[in-house]
Amino acid sequence: MALVLVVGAGVTGLVTAIRCALTGHRVTVLDRGPVPNPASTSADEHRVLRLLRPGDLDATRRMIEARDRWLGLESLLRTKFFRRVGIVTACAPDEVEPVLDIAREARAAAAVVAPETLAPVAFPAGTTGVLDRAAGVLLAEKFLRTAAEWLAAHPAVTLRPGCAVSDVDDHRVVLADGTPLGADVVVVAAGPWSAELAGDPVRLHRQTMVYLRAPQRLAAWWASAPGVGRIGAHRTAWLVPPGDGTLLKISSDAVCREVDRITDPDPAPWADRLLAEPILADLGDYDVVGVRDGHYATDPATGGPVLTRVCPSVWCRSACGGTGFSSAPLVADEIVDAVMEVSA
Ligand SMILES: Cc1cc2nc3c(=O)[nH]c(=O)nc-3n(C[C@H](O)[C@H](O)[C@H](O)COP(=O)(O)OP(=O)(O)OC[C@H]3O[C@@H](n4cnc5c(N)ncnc54)[C@H](O)[C@@H]3O)c2cc1C
Repeated sequence: MALVLVVGAGVTGLVTAIRCALTGHRVTVLDRGPVPNPASTSADEHRVLRLLRPGDLDATRRMIEARDRWLGLESLLRTKFFRRVGIVTACAPDEVEPVLDIAREARAAAAVVAPETLAPVAFPAGTTGVLDRAAGVLLAEKFLRTAAEWLAAHPAVTLRPGCAVSDVDDHRVVLADGTPLGADVVVVAAGPWSAELAGDPVRLHRQTMVYLRAPQRLAAWWASAPGVGRIGAHRTAWLVPPGDGTLLKISSDAVCREVDRITDPDPAPWADRLLAEPILADLGDYDVVGVRDGHYATDPATGGPVLTRVCPSVWCRSACGGTGFSSAPLVADEIVDAVMEVSA
């Protein structure tokens, strides 16, 4: 049995803590805020779980595995937080067959859908939709809450909210008040803040999201609507459908910018820019009910996510890009495999 210290109670930290507890280890989860922390990147109504990765069979297979892990978490926590509504990608005519090929090879269910069947969504001219049937929306905050409750009730787990970590070293972390804590394995799962504590430098991004309430006449349609991606003026926008008490959310790479630090400036000008994108038909019928910035980190070399072993006992999720929520169970698996090695 190993003693594992997890720094950060976002999705990565909580899923890792669950996996560690299930495999018989003792776990302490430290977060500078409450657990779950509404200021974490993970704390949002929803996150998309997309299976089909055009042009990348391995990544598609990985995401199918991730989806299966999420279904396993639903069973464990006895709570539904995956809405299998499907995700539609807008494709130019020459992009459709390659996506369907990947789906066939990976045995993922996919189908072509006519944009007219998704009339409330503005599809870019000349594109058609490919529906990733087994994909959908993870109710992120619902999962975080349920996971925190499960962990709080587990005898091998200690949750320590309000515990900021100021330093990480082999087999130990130092709290902001100077207290050192020892461990067999340390997992730095501090989201876009991880690189401040350990790991290699990352590229930081800030992205604005706008939350909308659909007009009453479309409420029933949206309740079972899929998510849609690669829409907007430059085909870099996406929408997460409302349902199960959540709002409709839109965003776009057009409102994603590289930043030096994680700060909290007024997102309103970026929201205006986002609302000017052709994402929804009849946008004027929707109420804007929220605007929020989120930050994520990427590997400066590849633009992707990174999980590194900083030293023999320290793992760091130093970069956590756009698939960071949905792929968290796979990251947790990798970390737990490493914990098993240490404790063998
Ligand atoms: C706009 C946007 C849209 C996204 N959309 C998707 C999507 O559709 N699908 C998807 O899969 N992913 C998506 N992502 C990515 C995903 O949300 C993140 O990768 C994921 O939530 C990161 O989770 P995490 O647990 O690693 O970090 P976080 O959720 O950020 O958690 C880190 C925790 O560490 C704590 N912490 C930080 N520093 C310290 C410290 N020094 N001491 C103690 N505690 C500390 C923080 O308080 C926080 O609670 C999106 C990201 C953004 C920004």
